Amino acid sequence: MIAVLKRGVTPEQIRQLVDWLKSMALDVHVSEGRDLTVLGLIGDTSRIDKELLESMEIVGSVKRVSDPIRQANRKEPATNSIIEIGNIRLGGGYFALIAGPCSVESEDQIIEVARAVQKSGAEILRGGAFKPRTSPYAFQGLGAEGIRLLLKAKEATGMPIITELMNIKDLPLFEEIDVIQIGARNMQNFDLLKEVGRLRKPILLKRGLASTLQELLMSAEYIMSEGNEQVILCERGIRTYEPYTRNTLDLSAVPALHELSHLPVVVDPSHATGKISLIPSMAVAATAAGADGVMVEVHNDPAHALCDGAQSLTPAQFDELSRKIFRIREAIQ
Ligand code: PEP
Ligand code: MN
Repeated sequence: MIAVLKRGVTPEQIRQLVDWLKSMALDVHVSEGRDLTVLGLIGDTSRIDKELLESMEIVGSVKRVSDPIRQANRKEPATNSIIEIGNIRLGGGYFALIAGPCSVESEDQIIEVARAVQKSGAEILRGGAFKPRTSPYAFQGLGAEGIRLLLKAKEATGMPIITELMNIKDLPLFEEIDVIQIGARNMQNFDLLKEVGRLRKPILLKRGLASTLQELLMSAEYIMSEGNEQVILCERGIRTYEPYTRNTLDLSAVPALHELSHLPVVVDPSHATGKISLIPSMAVAATAAGADGVMVEVHNDPAHALCDGAQSLTPAQFDELSRKIFRIREAIQ
């Protein structure tokens, strides 16, 4: 960290500031120029409040030079994390299609959808058992029963399962779940992030509705700093002023996150657009942009879906889409 002091500071003021910084176990390198004095702060500056330092009367500006993201950040240009999910790989050149209903509704529904999407090339089954709904009166998911049905679908098809955990108290139910999803609304639930950081299981971390990429990576860092390195980032659209789409898909997040991080990036065009008519183009575009996976909502009867029917593809629509996605994959490899 570097602090540039204002013009005209006295040696006594500098001494007081240096003493204060040293009291926080930092070494301070004082460099006095003709007009300005620059302090180089050496050591663990992560606990220094940049804004506090900047607010001091004699301080002009402060710049962090070391990256606050230590584990999620990109280190070597060519090294990407590969996440193993059962015998499926995601990241570092491996691509996976994730599909399934927004919510698990019944045994027949989840198994029918699982079989259909598997036939079309999906390798991971999604389905919500615990649903974060905007209204408390909307369908909240089947809870424990939903997890039981997902595991039945896993048994029937062999597909690994991804499902959302909202409350850490439900964790014992997730033992046989392959990937835990942390939803957009919980991206900054730091206690929950720390808890899943203590697991040794892949975590799909969705970008918050109004979160920057830096904040998403900081949340990944929460998980990784507890020892769980298996984090998959998910771009699912952010809130903008455009009401035509449910959210605005930030497609540049894919190459940007790849620039900033070694973690795999999955795109969810279903929650990003909220519209069946827009999902295929965005799924294809996400694939072309280099996403390591695409996650799409599919329902056997969208008109009667208990959640997100308007953005759920039918198995036939998904089949058509998956063919396009695999063609794009071939073209960019
Ligand atoms: C979901 O994937 O079911 C979901 C609720 O997504 P998000 O957290 O992105 O809204
Ligand atoms: Mn949904």
